[in-house]
Amino acid sequence: MPNEAFVYIVIVSLAGILSSLLCLYAYFRLKDVPGGKPYIFVTLFSAIFTFSYAVELSSTTLEKILIWLSVEYLVLPFIPTFILLMCLGYVGQKLKHWMSYLLFLLPILTIFMHATNELHHLYYTSIELNRDSPFPILKLEYGPWFYVHSIYFFLCFMMSMISLGMELRKTRLFRFRMQIILMVAGIMVPIIANYFYLNNLSPYGIDLGPVSMSISFILHGAALFSYQMFHVTPVARETVFENMREGVIVLNQEGVLVDYNHAMLNIISNLSSQCIGKPIVDVIGRGTHLAEIVLHEKECDFRSSLSGDNTYYHIRFSNVKNKYKFMKIITFVDVTERVDLQEQLQYLARIDGLTELYNRHFFMEESEKIVSSLNKKGGNVSIIMFDIDHFKSINDTFGHEAGDLVLARVAGVVKNCLRSHDIVGRYGGEEFILCMPDASLLAAEEMADFIRRNISQAVVRYSEKEITVTSSFGISSVLIRGEAVQATLQTLIREADQALYAAKRKGRNCVELFEKVG
Ligand code: GH3
Ligand code: MG
Ligand code: MG
Repeated sequence: MPNEAFVYIVIVSLAGILSSLLCLYAYFRLKDVPGGKPYIFVTLFSAIFTFSYAVELSSTTLEKILIWLSVEYLVLPFIPTFILLMCLGYVGQKLKHWMSYLLFLLPILTIFMHATNELHHLYYTSIELNRDSPFPILKLEYGPWFYVHSIYFFLCFMMSMISLGMELRKTRLFRFRMQIILMVAGIMVPIIANYFYLNNLSPYGIDLGPVSMSISFILHGAALFSYQMFHVTPVARETVFENMREGVIVLNQEGVLVDYNHAMLNIISNLSSQCIGKPIVDVIGRGTHLAEIVLHEKECDFRSSLSGDNTYYHIRFSNVKNKYKFMKIITFVDVTERVDLQEQLQYLARIDGLTELYNRHFFMEESEKIVSSLNKKGGNVSIIMFDIDHFKSINDTFGHEAGDLVLARVAGVVKNCLRSHDIVGRYGGEEFILCMPDASLLAAEEMADFIRRNISQAVVRYSEKEITVTSSFGISSVLIRGEAVQATLQTLIREADQALYAAKRKGRNCVELFEKVG
Protein backbone atom coordinates (compact mmCIF):
# COMPACT_ATOMS: atom_id res chain seq x y z
CA MET A 1 0.00 0.00 0.00
CA PRO A 2 1.43 3.44 -0.87
CA ASN A 3 2.62 5.58 2.00
CA GLU A 4 0.08 8.38 1.44
CA ALA A 5 -2.82 5.91 1.60
CA PHE A 6 -1.48 4.37 4.82
CA VAL A 7 -1.06 7.77 6.49
CA TYR A 8 -4.54 8.85 5.45
CA ILE A 9 -6.12 5.59 6.68
CA VAL A 10 -4.38 6.02 10.05
CA ILE A 11 -5.65 9.62 10.31
CA VAL A 12 -9.19 8.57 9.38
CA SER A 13 -9.08 5.67 11.87
CA LEU A 14 -7.91 8.02 14.64
CA ALA A 15 -10.84 10.28 13.78
CA GLY A 16 -13.11 7.24 14.12
CA ILE A 17 -11.64 6.36 17.54
CA LEU A 18 -12.10 9.95 18.70
CA SER A 19 -15.76 9.93 17.61
CA SER A 20 -16.29 6.60 19.38
CA LEU A 21 -14.78 7.89 22.63
CA LEU A 22 -16.90 11.03 22.49
CA CYS A 23 -19.94 8.88 21.82
CA LEU A 24 -19.21 6.72 24.88
CA TYR A 25 -18.65 9.79 27.04
CA ALA A 26 -21.88 11.33 25.80
CA TYR A 27 -23.77 8.07 26.41
CA PHE A 28 -22.72 7.83 30.04
CA ARG A 29 -22.60 11.51 31.01
CA LEU A 30 -24.81 13.56 28.72
CA LYS A 31 -27.89 11.45 28.09
CA ASP A 32 -30.28 13.65 30.01
CA VAL A 33 -29.03 17.11 29.17
CA PRO A 34 -30.50 19.34 26.43
CA GLY A 35 -28.97 18.42 23.09
CA GLY A 36 -27.27 15.39 24.66
CA LYS A 37 -29.17 12.60 22.85
CA PRO A 38 -28.60 13.95 19.31
CA TYR A 39 -24.95 14.39 20.28
CA ILE A 40 -24.74 10.67 21.11
CA PHE A 41 -26.17 9.80 17.67
CA VAL A 42 -24.02 12.25 15.77
CA THR A 43 -20.82 10.92 17.30
CA LEU A 44 -21.94 7.29 16.88
CA PHE A 45 -22.90 7.77 13.21
CA SER A 46 -19.76 9.66 12.41
CA ALA A 47 -17.70 6.89 14.07
CA ILE A 48 -19.43 4.28 11.88
CA PHE A 49 -19.01 6.47 8.81
CA THR A 50 -15.36 7.18 9.54
CA PHE A 51 -14.38 3.54 10.18
CA SER A 52 -16.25 2.45 7.03
CA TYR A 53 -14.38 5.09 5.09
CA ALA A 54 -11.07 3.84 6.48
CA VAL A 55 -11.94 0.33 5.25
CA GLU A 56 -13.07 1.77 1.90
CA LEU A 57 -9.69 3.47 1.51
CA SER A 58 -7.88 0.23 2.20
CA SER A 59 -10.02 -1.71 -0.31
CA THR A 60 -8.49 -2.39 -3.71
CA THR A 61 -11.42 -3.58 -5.86
CA LEU A 62 -14.36 -1.53 -7.06
CA GLU A 63 -16.76 -4.12 -5.67
CA LYS A 64 -15.40 -3.87 -2.12
CA ILE A 65 -15.22 -0.10 -2.27
CA LEU A 66 -18.87 0.09 -3.30
CA ILE A 67 -19.94 -2.19 -0.44
CA TRP A 68 -18.27 0.09 2.10
CA LEU A 69 -19.66 3.15 0.36
CA SER A 70 -23.14 1.69 0.89
CA VAL A 71 -22.37 1.14 4.60
CA GLU A 72 -21.25 4.79 4.88
CA TYR A 73 -24.50 5.89 3.29
CA LEU A 74 -26.56 4.13 5.93
CA VAL A 75 -25.45 6.72 8.50
CA LEU A 76 -23.99 9.73 6.67
CA PRO A 77 -27.33 11.30 5.59
CA PHE A 78 -28.42 11.53 9.27
CA ILE A 79 -25.34 13.39 10.51
CA PRO A 80 -26.55 16.90 9.58
CA THR A 81 -29.99 16.02 10.99
CA PHE A 82 -28.57 15.18 14.40
CA ILE A 83 -26.20 18.16 14.37
CA LEU A 84 -29.20 20.42 13.83
CA LEU A 85 -31.19 18.65 16.57
CA MET A 86 -28.21 18.96 18.92
CA CYS A 87 -27.94 22.72 18.33
CA LEU A 88 -31.68 23.28 18.66
CA GLY A 89 -31.75 21.27 21.88
CA TYR A 90 -28.80 23.22 23.20
CA VAL A 91 -30.47 26.59 22.63
CA GLY A 92 -33.82 25.26 23.82
CA GLN A 93 -35.84 25.46 20.59
CA LYS A 94 -38.45 22.89 19.78
CA LEU A 95 -39.30 21.81 16.23
CA LYS A 96 -42.84 21.36 14.98
CA HIS A 97 -43.78 17.70 14.40
CA TRP A 98 -43.97 18.00 10.61
CA MET A 99 -40.52 19.60 10.52
CA SER A 100 -39.04 16.72 12.54
CA TYR A 101 -40.63 14.21 10.09
CA LEU A 102 -39.26 16.14 7.12
CA LEU A 103 -35.82 16.26 8.74
CA PHE A 104 -35.74 12.44 8.90
CA LEU A 105 -37.63 11.81 5.65
CA LEU A 106 -34.94 13.36 3.44
CA PRO A 107 -32.04 11.26 4.79
CA ILE A 108 -34.21 8.09 4.46
CA LEU A 109 -34.96 8.98 0.83
CA THR A 110 -31.26 9.63 0.24
CA ILE A 111 -30.38 6.18 1.62
CA PHE A 112 -33.01 4.65 -0.65
CA MET A 113 -31.84 6.58 -3.71
CA HIS A 114 -28.23 5.69 -2.98
CA ALA A 115 -28.98 1.99 -2.51
CA THR A 116 -31.05 1.80 -5.71
CA ASN A 117 -28.74 3.93 -7.84
CA GLU A 118 -28.12 1.06 -10.30
CA LEU A 119 -31.79 1.26 -11.31
CA HIS A 120 -32.14 5.00 -11.95
CA HIS A 121 -28.66 6.66 -11.78
CA LEU A 122 -30.19 9.63 -10.06
CA TYR A 123 -27.52 9.70 -7.34
CA TYR A 124 -24.40 8.88 -9.35
CA THR A 125 -24.46 9.09 -13.13
CA SER A 126 -21.17 7.24 -13.32
CA ILE A 127 -18.89 5.36 -10.91
CA GLU A 128 -15.27 4.60 -11.86
CA LEU A 129 -12.03 3.86 -10.15
CA ASN A 130 -9.45 6.63 -10.35
CA ARG A 131 -6.30 4.95 -11.59
CA ASP A 132 -4.22 8.21 -11.57
CA SER A 133 -4.09 8.40 -7.75
CA PRO A 134 -1.43 6.55 -5.74
CA PHE A 135 -4.17 4.31 -4.32
CA PRO A 136 -7.59 3.36 -5.79
CA ILE A 137 -10.16 6.08 -5.21
CA LEU A 138 -13.67 6.39 -6.60
CA LYS A 139 -14.27 8.84 -9.37
CA LEU A 140 -17.92 9.80 -9.16
CA GLU A 141 -20.20 11.81 -11.43
CA TYR A 142 -23.17 13.12 -9.52
CA GLY A 143 -26.84 12.94 -10.43
CA PRO A 144 -29.66 15.30 -9.32
CA TRP A 145 -30.44 13.56 -6.00
CA PHE A 146 -26.86 14.07 -4.86
CA TYR A 147 -27.49 17.81 -5.11
CA VAL A 148 -30.77 17.49 -3.21
CA HIS A 149 -28.80 15.72 -0.47
CA SER A 150 -26.07 18.41 -0.58
CA ILE A 151 -28.62 21.21 -0.26
CA TYR A 152 -30.19 19.39 2.68
CA PHE A 153 -26.73 19.08 4.27
CA PHE A 154 -26.07 22.75 3.76
CA LEU A 155 -29.48 23.88 5.04
CA CYS A 156 -29.14 21.83 8.22
CA PHE A 157 -25.75 23.35 8.92
CA MET A 158 -27.02 26.85 8.15
CA MET A 159 -29.99 26.46 10.47
CA SER A 160 -27.67 25.15 13.20
CA MET A 161 -25.42 28.17 12.81
CA ILE A 162 -28.32 30.62 12.78
CA SER A 163 -29.81 29.19 15.99
CA LEU A 164 -26.40 29.32 17.69
CA GLY A 165 -25.74 32.81 16.36
CA MET A 166 -29.04 34.05 17.77
CA GLU A 167 -28.15 32.59 21.16
CA LEU A 168 -24.71 34.19 21.01
CA ARG A 169 -26.34 37.62 20.74
CA LYS A 170 -28.44 36.96 23.84
CA THR A 171 -25.67 35.55 26.02
CA ARG A 172 -23.29 37.85 27.85
CA LEU A 173 -21.42 35.27 29.88
CA PHE A 174 -17.97 34.46 28.58
CA ARG A 175 -18.40 30.74 29.34
CA PHE A 176 -21.50 30.45 27.15
CA ARG A 177 -20.04 32.62 24.42
CA MET A 178 -17.02 30.30 24.33
CA GLN A 179 -19.29 27.23 24.17
CA ILE A 180 -21.26 28.65 21.29
CA ILE A 181 -18.20 29.87 19.40
CA LEU A 182 -16.61 26.42 19.70
CA MET A 183 -19.82 24.79 18.47
CA VAL A 184 -20.08 27.16 15.50
CA ALA A 185 -16.43 26.52 14.64
CA GLY A 186 -17.11 22.77 14.91
CA ILE A 187 -19.87 23.09 12.33
CA MET A 188 -17.84 25.33 10.02
CA VAL A 189 -15.04 22.81 9.57
CA PRO A 190 -17.06 20.12 7.66
CA ILE A 191 -18.68 22.85 5.55
CA ILE A 192 -15.27 24.12 4.45
CA ALA A 193 -14.03 20.56 3.89
CA ASN A 194 -17.10 19.76 1.82
CA TYR A 195 -16.52 22.86 -0.27
CA PHE A 196 -12.99 21.65 -1.10
CA TYR A 197 -14.21 18.15 -1.82
CA LEU A 198 -17.10 19.17 -4.07
CA ASN A 199 -14.95 21.60 -6.04
CA ASN A 200 -12.33 18.92 -6.66
CA LEU A 201 -9.81 20.82 -4.57
CA SER A 202 -8.99 17.91 -2.27
CA PRO A 203 -5.88 15.85 -3.02
CA TYR A 204 -6.70 12.91 -5.34
CA GLY A 205 -10.43 13.55 -4.77
CA ILE A 206 -10.21 12.14 -1.24
CA ASP A 207 -13.36 12.83 0.78
CA LEU A 208 -12.20 15.24 3.50
CA GLY A 209 -15.46 14.71 5.40
CA PRO A 210 -14.31 12.11 7.93
CA VAL A 211 -11.16 13.99 8.92
CA SER A 212 -12.96 17.31 9.01
CA MET A 213 -15.51 15.69 11.31
CA SER A 214 -12.75 14.62 13.67
CA ILE A 215 -11.50 18.21 13.83
CA SER A 216 -15.09 19.28 14.32
CA PHE A 217 -15.51 16.87 17.22
CA ILE A 218 -12.26 18.04 18.80
CA LEU A 219 -13.83 21.52 18.90
CA HIS A 220 -17.10 20.18 20.24
CA GLY A 221 -15.10 18.07 22.68
CA ALA A 222 -13.21 21.16 23.84
CA ALA A 223 -16.50 22.87 24.54
CA LEU A 224 -17.72 19.73 26.21
CA PHE A 225 -14.81 19.18 28.58
CA SER A 226 -13.53 22.63 29.42
CA TYR A 227 -16.85 24.43 29.53
CA GLN A 228 -19.05 21.51 30.52
CA MET A 229 -21.29 22.19 27.60
CA PHE A 230 -24.84 20.96 28.07
CA HIS A 231 -24.56 20.84 31.85
CA VAL A 232 -25.55 24.45 32.20
CA THR A 233 -26.86 25.49 28.84
CA PRO A 234 -28.09 29.01 28.10
CA VAL A 235 -31.67 27.74 27.94
CA ALA A 236 -31.64 26.40 31.50
CA ARG A 237 -29.91 29.54 32.65
CA GLU A 238 -32.23 31.89 30.79
CA THR A 239 -35.49 30.34 31.91
CA VAL A 240 -34.72 29.52 35.53
CA PHE A 241 -31.72 31.45 36.71
CA GLU A 242 -32.20 34.80 34.97
CA ASN A 243 -35.89 35.10 35.79
CA MET A 244 -35.54 34.40 39.49
CA ARG A 245 -36.68 37.19 41.79
CA GLU A 246 -33.93 36.22 44.19
CA GLY A 247 -30.43 37.38 43.47
CA VAL A 248 -28.04 34.46 43.10
CA ILE A 249 -24.27 34.34 42.82
CA VAL A 250 -22.31 31.19 42.16
CA LEU A 251 -18.76 30.86 43.43
CA ASN A 252 -16.21 28.13 43.08
CA GLN A 253 -14.53 26.69 46.13
CA GLU A 254 -11.87 29.40 46.10
CA GLY A 255 -14.53 32.12 46.31
CA VAL A 256 -14.11 33.13 42.66
CA LEU A 257 -17.23 34.40 40.90
CA VAL A 258 -18.48 31.81 38.41
CA ASP A 259 -21.93 33.16 37.61
CA TYR A 260 -24.65 35.57 38.74
CA ASN A 261 -28.17 36.36 37.70
CA HIS A 262 -29.84 39.56 36.59
CA ALA A 263 -31.45 40.22 40.00
CA MET A 264 -27.95 40.58 41.49
CA LEU A 265 -27.40 43.83 39.58
CA ASN A 266 -29.77 45.53 42.04
CA ILE A 267 -27.60 44.38 44.93
CA ILE A 268 -24.01 44.67 43.69
CA SER A 269 -23.88 47.64 41.35
CA ASN A 270 -20.55 47.00 39.66
CA LEU A 271 -21.30 43.41 38.61
CA SER A 272 -20.56 42.76 34.97
CA SER A 273 -19.38 39.85 32.86
CA GLN A 274 -15.82 41.13 33.35
CA CYS A 275 -16.12 40.25 37.04
CA ILE A 276 -16.42 36.55 36.28
CA GLY A 277 -13.21 34.84 37.27
CA LYS A 278 -12.38 37.39 39.98
CA PRO A 279 -12.58 36.76 43.75
CA ILE A 280 -16.05 37.83 44.91
CA VAL A 281 -14.70 39.94 47.79
CA ASP A 282 -12.73 42.02 45.28
CA VAL A 283 -15.86 42.47 43.17
CA ILE A 284 -17.89 43.60 46.20
CA GLY A 285 -15.03 45.64 47.66
CA ARG A 286 -12.79 44.34 50.44
CA GLY A 287 -13.67 45.50 53.95
CA THR A 288 -17.29 46.36 53.13
CA HIS A 289 -20.08 44.97 55.29
CA LEU A 290 -21.32 42.73 52.47
CA ALA A 291 -17.82 41.40 51.77
CA GLU A 292 -17.49 40.46 55.47
CA ILE A 293 -20.82 38.63 55.38
CA VAL A 294 -19.81 36.72 52.24
CA LEU A 295 -16.32 35.96 53.56
CA HIS A 296 -17.61 34.50 56.83
CA GLU A 297 -20.72 32.94 55.23
CA LYS A 298 -22.87 34.63 57.86
CA GLU A 299 -26.55 33.96 57.21
CA CYS A 300 -28.26 37.27 58.02
CA ASP A 301 -30.31 40.22 56.79
CA PHE A 302 -28.47 42.83 54.74
CA ARG A 303 -29.60 46.34 53.88
CA SER A 304 -28.94 47.70 50.40
CA SER A 305 -29.63 51.30 49.39
CA LEU A 306 -28.61 50.97 45.74
CA SER A 307 -32.00 51.84 44.29
CA GLY A 308 -32.37 54.85 46.61
CA ASP A 309 -34.83 53.18 48.99
CA ASN A 310 -33.71 50.70 51.59
CA THR A 311 -34.11 47.11 50.47
CA TYR A 312 -33.46 44.25 52.85
CA TYR A 313 -32.12 40.90 51.68
CA HIS A 314 -31.82 37.72 53.63
CA ILE A 315 -28.54 36.14 52.60
CA ARG A 316 -28.27 32.35 52.53
CA PHE A 317 -25.33 30.13 51.72
CA SER A 318 -25.41 26.63 50.33
CA ASN A 319 -22.95 24.22 48.80
CA VAL A 320 -23.86 22.22 45.73
CA LYS A 321 -21.89 19.61 43.89
CA ASN A 322 -22.18 18.99 40.20
CA LYS A 323 -20.53 16.05 38.53
CA TYR A 324 -17.16 17.73 38.71
CA LYS A 325 -16.80 19.98 41.70
CA PHE A 326 -18.33 21.84 44.63
CA MET A 327 -19.89 25.23 44.09
CA LYS A 328 -21.06 27.80 46.59
CA ILE A 329 -24.42 29.38 45.96
CA ILE A 330 -25.28 32.64 47.71
CA THR A 331 -28.94 33.61 47.55
CA PHE A 332 -30.31 37.07 48.28
CA VAL A 333 -34.01 36.92 49.11
CA ASP A 334 -35.84 40.26 49.25
CA VAL A 335 -37.32 40.46 52.77
CA THR A 336 -38.03 44.21 52.78
CA GLU A 337 -41.74 43.65 53.49
CA ARG A 338 -40.98 41.42 56.44
CA VAL A 339 -38.36 43.79 57.88
CA ASP A 340 -40.65 46.82 57.40
CA LEU A 341 -43.45 44.98 59.16
CA GLN A 342 -41.14 44.00 62.00
CA GLU A 343 -39.95 47.58 62.36
CA GLN A 344 -43.52 48.82 62.30
CA LEU A 345 -44.51 46.31 64.98
CA GLN A 346 -41.49 47.28 67.07
CA TYR A 347 -42.41 50.94 66.68
CA LEU A 348 -46.02 50.28 67.66
CA ALA A 349 -44.86 48.30 70.67
CA ARG A 350 -42.70 51.22 71.85
CA ILE A 351 -44.50 54.38 70.86
CA ASP A 352 -47.76 55.88 71.99
CA GLY A 353 -49.88 56.55 68.90
CA LEU A 354 -51.39 59.89 69.95
CA THR A 355 -48.37 61.69 71.39
CA GLU A 356 -45.61 59.76 69.58
CA LEU A 357 -43.74 59.57 72.88
CA TYR A 358 -42.50 56.31 74.42
CA ASN A 359 -45.37 54.35 75.94
CA ARG A 360 -45.24 53.57 79.64
CA HIS A 361 -43.87 50.06 79.19
CA PHE A 362 -40.99 51.07 76.92
CA PHE A 363 -40.20 54.14 78.99
CA MET A 364 -39.87 51.94 82.07
CA GLU A 365 -37.56 49.53 80.23
CA GLU A 366 -35.30 52.31 78.98
CA SER A 367 -35.24 54.12 82.33
CA GLU A 368 -34.37 50.87 84.13
CA LYS A 369 -31.33 50.61 81.87
CA ILE A 370 -30.30 54.21 82.68
CA VAL A 371 -30.73 53.76 86.43
CA SER A 372 -28.92 50.42 86.57
CA SER A 373 -26.01 51.80 84.53
CA LEU A 374 -25.75 54.79 86.92
CA ASN A 375 -25.88 52.39 89.88
CA LYS A 376 -22.68 50.90 88.51
CA LYS A 377 -20.76 54.01 87.48
CA GLY A 378 -22.35 56.57 89.85
CA GLY A 379 -23.85 60.00 89.07
CA ASN A 380 -27.11 61.97 89.16
CA VAL A 381 -30.46 60.89 87.86
CA SER A 382 -33.71 62.87 88.04
CA ILE A 383 -37.29 61.88 87.37
CA ILE A 384 -39.85 64.54 86.46
CA MET A 385 -43.57 63.76 86.42
CA PHE A 386 -46.10 66.26 85.21
CA ASP A 387 -49.86 66.35 84.68
CA ILE A 388 -52.00 68.80 82.72
CA ASP A 389 -54.09 70.99 84.99
CA HIS A 390 -57.89 70.71 84.83
CA PHE A 391 -57.66 68.66 81.69
CA LYS A 392 -61.11 67.23 82.23
CA SER A 393 -62.55 70.72 81.67
CA ILE A 394 -60.69 70.95 78.31
CA ASN A 395 -62.47 67.80 77.21
CA ASP A 396 -65.75 69.04 78.64
CA THR A 397 -65.50 72.50 77.04
CA PHE A 398 -63.99 71.75 73.63
CA GLY A 399 -64.61 68.03 73.20
CA HIS A 400 -62.41 64.94 73.26
CA GLU A 401 -60.90 65.67 69.85
CA ALA A 402 -59.62 69.04 71.06
CA GLY A 403 -58.27 67.30 74.17
CA ASP A 404 -56.31 64.93 71.92
CA LEU A 405 -54.84 67.88 70.01
CA VAL A 406 -53.72 69.47 73.27
CA LEU A 407 -52.06 66.22 74.40
CA ALA A 408 -50.17 65.93 71.10
CA ARG A 409 -49.11 69.56 71.30
CA VAL A 410 -47.88 69.26 74.90
CA ALA A 411 -45.85 66.18 73.85
CA GLY A 412 -44.31 68.18 71.00
CA VAL A 413 -43.38 71.04 73.35
CA VAL A 414 -41.66 68.66 75.78
CA LYS A 415 -39.69 66.93 73.04
CA ASN A 416 -38.33 70.28 71.89
CA CYS A 417 -37.10 71.13 75.38
CA LEU A 418 -35.17 67.91 76.09
CA ARG A 419 -31.45 67.23 75.92
CA SER A 420 -30.46 64.44 73.54
CA HIS A 421 -30.00 61.80 76.25
CA ASP A 422 -33.18 62.59 78.25
CA ILE A 423 -36.15 60.35 77.62
CA VAL A 424 -39.84 61.10 77.92
CA GLY A 425 -42.92 58.90 78.00
CA ARG A 426 -46.68 59.10 78.34
CA TYR A 427 -47.25 57.69 81.79
CA GLY A 428 -51.04 57.70 81.75
CA GLY A 429 -53.96 59.75 80.26
CA GLU A 430 -52.57 63.30 80.52
CA GLU A 431 -49.65 62.46 82.76
CA PHE A 432 -46.08 62.48 81.43
CA ILE A 433 -42.75 61.31 82.80
CA LEU A 434 -39.14 62.27 82.09
CA CYS A 435 -35.92 60.49 82.98
CA MET A 436 -32.85 62.74 82.99
CA PRO A 437 -29.53 60.97 83.46
CA ASP A 438 -26.62 63.11 84.76
CA ALA A 439 -29.03 65.87 85.85
CA SER A 440 -28.89 67.23 89.40
CA LEU A 441 -32.02 68.28 91.26
CA LEU A 442 -31.29 71.89 90.33
CA ALA A 443 -30.82 71.07 86.64
CA ALA A 444 -34.03 69.03 86.67
CA GLU A 445 -35.89 71.89 88.35
CA GLU A 446 -34.64 74.32 85.67
CA MET A 447 -35.75 71.92 82.95
CA ALA A 448 -39.17 71.37 84.56
CA ASP A 449 -39.75 75.09 84.87
CA PHE A 450 -38.63 75.63 81.27
CA ILE A 451 -41.11 73.02 80.06
CA ARG A 452 -43.86 74.45 82.32
CA ARG A 453 -43.41 77.92 80.81
CA ASN A 454 -43.32 76.58 77.26
CA ILE A 455 -46.52 74.56 77.78
CA SER A 456 -48.33 77.55 79.26
CA GLN A 457 -47.31 79.70 76.29
CA ALA A 458 -48.36 77.12 73.65
CA VAL A 459 -51.66 77.87 71.94
CA VAL A 460 -53.77 75.13 70.32
CA ARG A 461 -56.26 76.34 67.71
CA TYR A 462 -59.42 74.30 67.45
CA SER A 463 -62.65 75.36 65.69
CA GLU A 464 -61.48 78.99 65.62
CA LYS A 465 -60.93 78.85 69.35
CA GLU A 466 -57.61 79.16 71.11
CA ILE A 467 -56.85 76.68 73.86
CA THR A 468 -54.08 77.09 76.41
CA VAL A 469 -53.21 74.82 79.30
CA THR A 470 -50.91 74.77 82.30
CA SER A 471 -49.29 71.82 84.01
CA SER A 472 -47.91 70.81 87.39
CA PHE A 473 -44.52 69.16 87.97
CA GLY A 474 -43.04 66.89 90.63
CA ILE A 475 -39.31 66.06 90.72
CA SER A 476 -37.26 63.46 92.46
CA SER A 477 -33.49 63.30 92.15
CA VAL A 478 -30.66 61.18 93.52
CA LEU A 479 -26.88 61.28 93.46
CA ILE A 480 -25.64 57.72 93.27
CA ARG A 481 -22.27 57.18 94.98
CA GLY A 482 -20.88 53.70 94.46
CA GLU A 483 -22.44 51.01 96.66
CA ALA A 484 -23.36 53.53 99.37
CA VAL A 485 -26.31 55.16 97.62
CA GLN A 486 -28.29 53.04 95.18
CA ALA A 487 -31.56 53.96 93.53
CA THR A 488 -34.57 52.15 92.17
CA LEU A 489 -36.76 53.54 89.47
CA GLN A 490 -39.90 52.65 91.43
CA THR A 491 -38.76 54.78 94.40
CA LEU A 492 -37.88 57.73 92.21
CA ILE A 493 -41.24 57.57 90.45
CA ARG A 494 -43.16 57.30 93.73
CA GLU A 495 -41.30 60.34 95.11
CA ALA A 496 -41.83 62.37 91.92
CA ASP A 497 -45.51 61.47 92.01
CA GLN A 498 -45.75 62.69 95.59
CA ALA A 499 -44.05 65.95 94.61
CA LEU A 500 -46.52 66.32 91.72
CA TYR A 501 -49.40 65.80 94.11
CA ALA A 502 -47.91 68.54 96.28
CA ALA A 503 -47.69 70.86 93.25
CA LYS A 504 -51.39 70.26 92.53
CA ARG A 505 -52.27 71.04 96.14
CA LYS A 506 -50.15 74.15 96.01
CA GLY A 507 -52.37 75.60 93.29
CA ARG A 508 -51.04 74.00 90.03
CA ASN A 509 -48.83 75.47 87.26
CA CYS A 510 -45.75 75.06 89.43
CA VAL A 511 -42.79 72.76 90.06
CA GLU A 512 -42.30 70.90 93.36
CA LEU A 513 -39.20 68.99 94.51
CA PHE A 514 -39.48 65.79 96.52
CA GLU A 515 -37.02 66.99 99.20
CA LYS A 516 -39.31 69.88 100.05
CA VAL A 517 -42.20 67.55 100.68
CA GLY A 518 -42.97 66.76 104.28
P1 GH3 B 1 -55.97 67.96 87.60
O1 GH3 B 1 -55.07 67.01 86.98
O2 GH3 B 1 -55.56 69.37 87.41
O3 GH3 B 1 -56.25 67.65 89.04
O4 GH3 B 1 -57.35 67.90 86.89
P2 GH3 B 1 -57.74 66.97 85.70
O5 GH3 B 1 -59.00 67.48 85.14
O6 GH3 B 1 -56.63 66.94 84.74
O7 GH3 B 1 -57.98 65.65 86.43
P3 GH3 B 1 -57.73 64.15 85.98
O8 GH3 B 1 -56.30 63.87 85.93
O9 GH3 B 1 -58.53 63.36 86.96
O10 GH3 B 1 -58.40 64.07 84.58
C1 GH3 B 1 -57.79 63.45 83.51
C2 GH3 B 1 -58.69 63.48 82.31
O11 GH3 B 1 -57.96 63.31 81.13
C3 GH3 B 1 -59.74 62.40 82.38
C4 GH3 B 1 -59.79 61.83 80.97
O12 GH3 B 1 -61.06 61.99 80.38
C5 GH3 B 1 -58.84 62.69 80.20
N1 GH3 B 1 -58.07 61.89 79.30
C6 GH3 B 1 -57.26 60.85 79.60
N2 GH3 B 1 -56.69 60.35 78.46
C7 GH3 B 1 -57.19 61.10 77.43
C8 GH3 B 1 -56.99 61.08 76.03
O13 GH3 B 1 -56.25 60.28 75.49
N3 GH3 B 1 -57.64 62.01 75.28
C9 GH3 B 1 -58.46 62.94 75.84
N4 GH3 B 1 -59.06 63.82 75.04
N5 GH3 B 1 -58.68 62.96 77.16
C10 GH3 B 1 -58.06 62.07 77.97
MG1 MG C 1 -54.72 66.53 85.14
MG1 MG D 1 -54.25 63.16 85.67
